[in-house]
Amino acid sequence: MKIDQFPKDIQDHILPKPEGEMVYRCLGCKTEYSSDRLLDTCPECGSVFLLHDMNKQHINKVSGEKWRRIFDYRKMINEKALKGIFRFYEFVAPIIPLDQIVYLGEGHTPLVEANTRMKNRVGIDFYFKNDGLNPSASFKDRGMACALSYINYLAKQEGMKDVLAICASTGDTSASAALYGSYLDDFLKSAVLLPKGKVTAQQLSQPLGSGAKVLEIPGVFDDCMKVVEFLSSNYHVALLNSKNSWRILGQETFSYEIAQDFDYEVSNKVIFVPIGNAGNITAVMRGFLKFYDAGVIDTLPKIIGVQSEHADPVYRYYLEPDEDKRRFVPVTVAPSVAQAAMIGNPVSMPRVIELVRLYNSTADEKKVFVVQVTEQEIMDSMIIANRNGNIACTQGGESLAGLKKAAETGLIKSGEAGVLDSTAHSLKFAVFQEMYFNNTFSPEFHVRPKPELKNAPIQVRPQRLSKFPEQGKPLTGDDMDLFVREMAAEIASILDLKKK
Ligand SMILES: *Cc1c(COP(=O)(O)O)cnc(C)c1O
Ligand SMILES: [Zn+2]
Repeated sequence: MKIDQFPKDIQDHILPKPEGEMVYRCLGCKTEYSSDRLLDTCPECGSVFLLHDMNKQHINKVSGEKWRRIFDYRKMINEKALKGIFRFYEFVAPIIPLDQIVYLGEGHTPLVEANTRMKNRVGIDFYFKNDGLNPSASFKDRGMACALSYINYLAKQEGMKDVLAICASTGDTSASAALYGSYLDDFLKSAVLLPKGKVTAQQLSQPLGSGAKVLEIPGVFDDCMKVVEFLSSNYHVALLNSKNSWRILGQETFSYEIAQDFDYEVSNKVIFVPIGNAGNITAVMRGFLKFYDAGVIDTLPKIIGVQSEHADPVYRYYLEPDEDKRRFVPVTVAPSVAQAAMIGNPVSMPRVIELVRLYNSTADEKKVFVVQVTEQEIMDSMIIANRNGNIACTQGGESLAGLKKAAETGLIKSGEAGVLDSTAHSLKFAVFQEMYFNNTFSPEFHVRPKPELKNAPIQVRPQRLSKFPEQGKPLTGDDMDLFVREMAAEIASILDLKKK
């Protein structure tokens, strides 16, 4: 739709202007830094940042009701920069000119209502939001679209030539960083550090396919992260992990989309998010808080973080009810099928602590919870979800396992509806499905396949047949007729088909 076809009072708002004034604010010493350069951690105290928009005026001069109409009308404008996460431009990074925004098709992932069979199983209504339907098949693209748009803008402005973008990854961050990096002009190259053997074959193929330098490191993700942190403090590199607070801004759009998907009525919704490095749950809380502050939504939804018992430092932290007594203790992770969340020392922990406090105090009641689930529950849930029309990854299974736990313990009740983050596409984690079906999990996973959930291909090769077609040697004449007849008879018997 063309600008002049929009309602008069919306026309001026359809194409946003860079009216924000973003600053980095340190969560440790509270120092603020201008956003005219890329910073990952505070030069003063080393803590992480969140980006704040100091120009509240450009948000507040528009009513919540009008913002809703602006976002709804923006769905109809054919402007590439606004097709993805920047539909919510003013709430993301309102300093990046539209022509510097990188768009590869991220965001606006489908919200799929659970079928009746699954709803009955859990006893609660719920939806999957399938973030596996992003360009690199995980939610990481939301954050990367924002971070790379910012770097693109900065590089053009400063005439930067040799930017090396670098990240440590449990698989999906590197896939996403490499994809967005490969789209940009020659000023940027990317390198990714992966824990050797701890990412799936599909995840490894992604940065390789995008042409990034792929560096495999012995150890687990937490070890890779330490190396990347050292590199970023001592060399000129652009860090793309979720320490990079531009990524958090992009990931906040997950919440904006949920609000829009439900016509901004989220009071009875309960959002389930798997927690690894805790960037995502940070962003989800922050997104709803920003929409609430601007009057776009009028109630904050409940948020439930989910962790596997094999990597549960955030869950353990919140086990202590007395806020003053809580102490964060990193854990040593054990092998987890929710491999993308297998992190013992989440870098966003200071953000989580601050935002949980802010979220609960803004809502004036406890609205953020963390539950713990077993590896068995995660695997069973992934398989069940996908047997009911979904494309859930193991972490999506973790969200469903978390919903079941929350239903059992009364954290969610009928009348409320779950919105489950399925953070990546099932195909990336097909190896765990394969281990389940073939019962080949090593003992430390503690997963035993349920026979009724297993599946395997059936070899069809009737005894009565002596000749079979082969590549380049087709059967002909009577041999072919016989082959078709005998094969069909065998298949009819396996499938118990009735004759016409
Ligand atoms: C990164 C990732 C997570 C964990 O998100 P954090 O922001 O690290 O907490 C969960 N699921 C998938 C598929 C991921 O790629
Ligand atoms: Zn600081």
